[in-house]
Amino acid sequence: MSAPVYLDVALNLPLRREFTYALPAGLRAEVGNRVLVPFRGRRMPGVVTAVGVACTLAPGKVRPIERIVDAGTVLPPALLVLARRIAEEYGCSLGEALDATLPAAAKARGERRIPHLELAVTFAEAERSWLDLEEKAQERSRVLRAVAEFGAPMPVLDVRRRTGTSDSPWQTLVKHGLLRRVLVAQRGEDLALGTGETVVRHELNAEQLAAADAVRAAVAARRHEVFLLHGVTGSGKTEVYLHVLEAVRAQGRGAIVLVPEISLTPQTVGRFRARFPDVAVLHSGLTEAQRGQQWRQILSGRAQVVVGARSALFAPLRDLGLIVVDEEHEGTFKQENTPRYHAREMAVARGEIESAPVILGSATPSLESYGRARRGAYRLLELRQRAGAGQLPRIVIEDLRVAEKPDWVNGVPISRTLRRLMEERMRARDQVILFLNRRGFAPVLICGKCGSTLRCERCAVTMTYHLRRGRLVCHYCCAERRRPEMCPTCSHPRLHELGTGTERVTEAVKGLFPDRIVVRMDADTTAARGSHEQILTAFRKKQIDILVGTQMLAKGHDFPDVTLVGVISADTGLFVPDYRAAERTFQLLSQVAGRAGRGDKPGIVVFQTLNPDNYAIQAAARLDYDAFVRTELGFRRDTGYPPYSRLVRVLFEGLALPTVQAQSAEVAGTLRDLPGVVPLGPAPAIQERLKDRHRMHVLVKCATREAFLAAMARLATVEDRTTQTLRVTLDVDPGSLL
Ligand code: ADP
Ligand code: ZN
Repeated sequence: MSAPVYLDVALNLPLRREFTYALPAGLRAEVGNRVLVPFRGRRMPGVVTAVGVACTLAPGKVRPIERIVDAGTVLPPALLVLARRIAEEYGCSLGEALDATLPAAAKARGERRIPHLELAVTFAEAERSWLDLEEKAQERSRVLRAVAEFGAPMPVLDVRRRTGTSDSPWQTLVKHGLLRRVLVAQRGEDLALGTGETVVRHELNAEQLAAADAVRAAVAARRHEVFLLHGVTGSGKTEVYLHVLEAVRAQGRGAIVLVPEISLTPQTVGRFRARFPDVAVLHSGLTEAQRGQQWRQILSGRAQVVVGARSALFAPLRDLGLIVVDEEHEGTFKQENTPRYHAREMAVARGEIESAPVILGSATPSLESYGRARRGAYRLLELRQRAGAGQLPRIVIEDLRVAEKPDWVNGVPISRTLRRLMEERMRARDQVILFLNRRGFAPVLICGKCGSTLRCERCAVTMTYHLRRGRLVCHYCCAERRRPEMCPTCSHPRLHELGTGTERVTEAVKGLFPDRIVVRMDADTTAARGSHEQILTAFRKKQIDILVGTQMLAKGHDFPDVTLVGVISADTGLFVPDYRAAERTFQLLSQVAGRAGRGDKPGIVVFQTLNPDNYAIQAAARLDYDAFVRTELGFRRDTGYPPYSRLVRVLFEGLALPTVQAQSAEVAGTLRDLPGVVPLGPAPAIQERLKDRHRMHVLVKCATREAFLAAMARLATVEDRTTQTLRVTLDVDPGSLL
């Protein structure tokens, strides 16, 4: 009998170590194999990270693996290295990082059926019940209503997320015979192959050619280099990617194109499919079986170009020649649960590991990437003009500080300028987009006598008034209440609606243009399945004249007949206490402005604002990224925020404020002696309370790589402070400070 072979296996557990197992005689294993192993009385999937390791335990103590899963599909070595990088950079275990690199279907075979909820009664009966439950069982009422309004079996997870509830309300509804739990095979959305689209291969213009040549040189040399492709919307960035892809494909190598989920439209996919027949698409609308199938296609080398959202970063291509991150500034590239990696940063890491060039493309690059380009770590490539048809829009700033009575319509600021332009567009049968990044009717109800506002008791924020539903809704925890007849504090009968949301804008515009079709698109009007696409299709077919919406309609869509975009308030995001408030405002305004004049007609954009001199608004109005970034970089340097530091956030959430305070103070204290490390706080998080939980965070600025590593070493076990009543979360490069 030969000596037993031992393996190291990484398990998807928050334990920062690997576990040793024995390989049963007759089995062969290699690094990257997926295995099933016994662990604490359960059976767990894992990945082999080393074969033939020494084992100090008594032979009888080491348990054998149960089996090797799908021996033909070994995780490529580069992905194992990438997973180690993620574990290091984001402070998770190797097993947790590896788990992200595998689609669920590769872990457990077969189609998974997931629990959904549907009505067990008629809609009318459901409505009666939810009105009935409204006072005595609010959460149940909300759940019932959400399922009814969805109009199709709704995934339990979505129900919980939309209503901010736990499992018990829906379970009770099932018990009472109002809802039914059904298992539904996950629906796979077919991203149409871009049928009917004629996809022209354009000859590149001079700027595009210079950019493409720079990248192609790196492709030819198989050299890792990061290019920051900065080009206004419509400047032909995608066309540059496509031309570089041709060079990669000609070498017989593969490529990954990462796009934000929201811009993963049939148009985008069709554009790649038309040029490259072997495109695989990975996005969250696929069923697990479909994902698994795409994954195998890639692993076997049958698909060599992968277009997808964040997780496509882990596409198991064997010979990677290029990674593109389109709209690199988008926040959605940051994963918001463990492993909390940033796909843009890890795309650069993967490129480095595989000696492949990386293109980061954007009309408004993130300060992080731009800062690195300035320091020479990335190479800046610029496209300054629009490539095809379509001119840059003209942008007008409307100063709302000098607004007079005629500039208001039923409490909504619609300046005379904007109104006149809208009337012109309506006469010409063009279309208009009105943008406001705040839903509901009014964000505040305030008493006309004592000035108190109506707040959510659990979250300590004002509740937004929704007119149609006659209710106040907490936009943090989804709690609802009926609009009171009088002020709960002083019983005064007059409550004023303060401020403006999309619902109020829509009502006002309907009043202005009673014979036109005005439609609102926000989270409230797109609750029913498929309604999002329905609205966009109707708008594209010109069945809608004026579309009012939140940032949901800011990006990715092309409407050739939209010649006017009005931003009702450019200020909504400006004063959020987040160091990126100006950057986000600039990006959002630039993006919204990019919706105007995409066809051959010129477009006009109106920014209404109370801060006409603000540099972010000024720069967005002049389409002047350079001016914005110069000012913003100055502020960031003075305050030591990214890109002049790396940020780590430790979030403490608990029921007892003293514990939250004590724990966060203690953690901040452990970091104070480290050179180059500045722990800020502990301070209350922006969202100070959420569902009765007190929330505080420590923001850690790390000036250098060494400082970052030192801080991370101290924070390695910080999440172990989590108890039943306190949750501690470590987040590197945090996307949100809420
Ligand atoms: P971006 O990705 O920067 O928004 P696209 O690549 O989508 O820009 O290009 C915008 C439009 O211009 C598209 O309709 C595209 O077909 C067209 N286009 C791109 N490059 C050229 C070119 N060199 N000549 C003519 N039209 C072009
Ligand atoms: Zn709340």
